[in-house]
Amino acid sequence: MNYRQTIPAHLRYTIQDFNRQFPTDDACLEHLKEQRFPGGMAFCEKCRQETKHHRVHGRPVYGCDVCLTQISPMAGTIFEHSSTSLRLWYYAMYLMASTRCGISAKQIQRETGVTYKTAWRMFRQIRSLLSESDMQLEGSAVEMDEMYYGGKAKGRRGRPMRGDKQKMPVVGIVERSTKERVGRVKALATPDVSHDRIVGIAHEYIMPKSIVFTDEYPAYDRLTPRFKKHKRINHSAKVYVMGDVHTNTIEGFWSLVKRGIGGVYHQVSQKYLQSYLNEYSFRYNRRDQGNLIFTSILRRVAELAALPVEAPAQMTPAPTDAF
Ligand SMILES: [Zn+2]
Repeated sequence: MNYRQTIPAHLRYTIQDFNRQFPTDDACLEHLKEQRFPGGMAFCEKCRQETKHHRVHGRPVYGCDVCLTQISPMAGTIFEHSSTSLRLWYYAMYLMASTRCGISAKQIQRETGVTYKTAWRMFRQIRSLLSESDMQLEGSAVEMDEMYYGGKAKGRRGRPMRGDKQKMPVVGIVERSTKERVGRVKALATPDVSHDRIVGIAHEYIMPKSIVFTDEYPAYDRLTPRFKKHKRINHSAKVYVMGDVHTNTIEGFWSLVKRGIGGVYHQVSQKYLQSYLNEYSFRYNRRDQGNLIFTSILRRVAELAALPVEAPAQMTPAPTDAF
């Protein structure tokens, strides 16, 4: 799909737009404040009510107009406790939103002069915003397929051979696009692709009335009685499309993911793989929004600020993280 070259004007957000909207740390802070406390209205712990807040000169905080108690728009966000400038955070989010295949920590290190470790941590934090765990797929036609990450592709279509433990399965479901809206994807790193696993995932994310398209892989056998229609394409007979029966949509997504993350995943945990999948899915699910994906990411910062923060996991960058 060639959407990137044909972004309509109202969905375009260029680096010039970014520089104009966010010229300084203060501009970013003001934006964040408006996202979290529109008009400066926020609950003041001391006054025990919503009060108006004003910027405190020289500090990244806002004070209550009545009692001067201070609040920070960064509290509870991924920016809290970070010594990196807010504008750099915004720039990193802009980059992550604007590329189709992802952006490497190396690249932001080169462009901005932060250390590789800092850049890597920023991306990890930003990625943590991009999960859509409660999203339900609603398409009337969906494709389900798996791919395997890491290790060497020994088996046909990358399915692992016996004893090939390095490969991590990823199960994906994608809605086919309709005239009304673009199809969305759900991609899950899973411990295995057993019958039970496949049925469990299908039940959680696919509407019972949907038509489900898969290939002939036996793991999908048990879907047949459970959905309105289960149509299968016989890849082993080298058939890839038969009328509307194909899995090309989900395979298009897999190739996007694979092109993006390259062959670095044989060293990383399942949990970590999921965060990359979330990033690709987040962009894919908003591909009709042009560069305004950036706005969606900014919104996530404020939305997730109120939620409890995930306990810090190990923060050492993988040495081969070329991403
Ligand atoms: Zn107050």
